[in-house]
Amino acid sequence: MSEQLIILGTGPAGYTASIYAARANLHPLVIEGDEPGGQLMLTTEVENFPGFPSGVMGPDLMETMKKQAEKFGAKFVFDKAASVDLSRHPFLVRTENNNEYEAEALIISTGASAKLLDIPGESELIGHGVSTCATCDGFFFKGKRIIVVGGGDSAMEEATFLTRYASEVTIVHRRENLRASKVMQDRAHNNPKIKWVLNATPLAVESENNRVTGLTIRHNDTDKTETLATEGLFVSIGHRPNTAFLAGQVNTDKVGYIIADRATTLTSVDGVFACGDVADSRYRQAITAAGTGCQAAIDAERWLEARNH
Ligand code: NAP
Repeated sequence: MSEQLIILGTGPAGYTASIYAARANLHPLVIEGDEPGGQLMLTTEVENFPGFPSGVMGPDLMETMKKQAEKFGAKFVFDKAASVDLSRHPFLVRTENNNEYEAEALIISTGASAKLLDIPGESELIGHGVSTCATCDGFFFKGKRIIVVGGGDSAMEEATFLTRYASEVTIVHRRENLRASKVMQDRAHNNPKIKWVLNATPLAVESENNRVTGLTIRHNDTDKTETLATEGLFVSIGHRPNTAFLAGQVNTDKVGYIIADRATTLTSVDGVFACGDVADSRYRQAITAAGTGCQAAIDAERWLEARNH
């Protein structure tokens, strides 16, 4: 039997869409993805989500959103969309656990995932000193040296957070100027445990006995290479949208972000809606994701109503 609405992904966008769709009696089936709760599960304190003047822990916020959706009847399955067929209707969703689901309407809120540097040693050493999540792994580096690569808000935030554990944190950035907002830069600059290596390109992750021992970099101004000793390497260089499973069936920009209609969440496929970071390379905030999740549910509801009458 075909579902009225399937929602793919469970960040703030997917959960908000689930809440609205469930309250509209669409009985949404929500395929959670392999990181239920999305990127906020990897953060600590969220200070800018309205309604929480004292801040809220990212995982707590996501858990309450899920509970709210469940309360209204959204059904969650812990599985991940592996591919879709949008050339037929009802749409077909195939999952990594080899299940197949059909849906009249589809909301894509699969978010974005951490990018890697793509240098020798990096992927092999994930979990052995290389990480993309300070909140998850910082605890393992008590009293150790850590390098954070990146110059954006995430890198500043992760580096600042990691000073709770590390003996020192070095931020390595490929340019002289940081991309991060002033407030985040200032917070990092004022932290005595944070050191800076700017205008340097990471070349390779060094290791011994399957543990990270250093990061080899090239100083861009002199072309000299150097290996910085470290026990931990946190890669914090942004994210890429999770759209590979769509195999080009929905229009995206050249990076892979879904192109939604400017004022709505409509995509190039009738009956398919997109919300959250998967369609947003500009704002990428929990609150904007939640807002577009609401829009997607309303768009899907109206679309289904128009179709069935
Ligand atoms: P971002 O703003 O895209 O910054 C990515 C950083 O990584 C840039 O400095 C970039 O260098 C560097 N980088 C990218 N690819 C690289 C590579 N291959 N090798 C070396 N360096 C590389 O990503 P983000 O920091 O994850 O932030 C994403 C969005 O979330 C932003 O809008 C940000 O404001 C927001 N955010 C907000 C908060 C907060 O307010 N609490 C916290 C985290 C994130 P270049 O500068 O040279 O391009």
